[in-house]
Amino acid sequence: MTATILDGKLVAAEAKKHVKVEVERMKASGTNPHLSTVLVGDEPASASYLKSKHKACQEAGIGSENHHLPVETTQKELENLIFKLNVDPKVNGILVQLPLPGHLDENTVIERIVPYKDVDGLHPMNAGKLASGIEGLVPCTPKGIVKLLEHYKVPLRGQRAMIVNRSTLVGRPLAMLFLNRDATVTMAHSKTLNLPEVSRSADILVSAVGRSNFQVEAKHVKPGAAVVDVGLSRVDGKLRGDVDFGEVSKVAKYLTPVPGGVGPMTVAMLLENTVMAAMIQSGKN
Ligand code: NAP
Repeated sequence: MTATILDGKLVAAEAKKHVKVEVERMKASGTNPHLSTVLVGDEPASASYLKSKHKACQEAGIGSENHHLPVETTQKELENLIFKLNVDPKVNGILVQLPLPGHLDENTVIERIVPYKDVDGLHPMNAGKLASGIEGLVPCTPKGIVKLLEHYKVPLRGQRAMIVNRSTLVGRPLAMLFLNRDATVTMAHSKTLNLPEVSRSADILVSAVGRSNFQVEAKHVKPGAAVVDVGLSRVDGKLRGDVDFGEVSKVAKYLTPVPGGVGPMTVAMLLENTVMAAMIQSGKN
């Protein structure tokens, strides 16, 4: 078996096209969607992720700006910026690039964002809505994973889905999205025992670990499964996913590449969320 590649670049390009049309329509009726991002410090990976998010905004006609704060920024200074963005009528979406430097309290910062501008979908109110089965502003990576699977008509209903990750950014919201689509969900993490045994029973396996000592091999995958590779790590300076692509592509039915899989979907979903936030705020949703 050679796996069908779930082409995130292609599906993201399609999603971005739809966003662009929507943005033009909104602008014609007087709404100009706008995203504000916040970067604290000079972490190169964070700066590079933000660069691609702003480029995507520009291509879609969404206004955007980045607030770059020095690494020594205090909690109070950061929260004050969030308060300003919360009340700025021009700003529809606020994204604080994570991770923040260690002296800052990420959870509190996220809670300071007004939920209707929380385009990362991380505010407890948005997470709570999702847990209740209401899909509003949903975190971009899980949303993108579901969109990618749905595009390729990978069945979810009744299927066994296993997610190796329990973070609020990836695993928890994805579990809710899968549950909403009638999958039977198992979540695994660093304390899971006999992980390969459990993963071999999964029809859909999502791996979001991102540690260089962790790899999903062919023997961990049920033949015919859909495998989604989210984790990113550096090995000998090279960026790689969690999955041994060459070997797993021989047993899986569907597989995402790295790069070109989940990454582009994440950016496209940020654009969708910004448009959704702008619609909510203009009262047109
Ligand atoms: P995180 O908070 O560090 O989560 C990592 C998860 O992996 C945790 O749940 C952790 O378990 C689990 N884990 C660690 N070692 C493990 C092991 N040996 N066996 C099984 N599980 C293990 O990171 P995150 O923010 O969720 O992101 C996860 C990865 O996805 C990162 O590599 C990140 O760069 C990548 N990512 C990619 C995109 C994209 O667009 N491509 C977007 C978001 C994230 P515990 O909970 O027990 O610690």
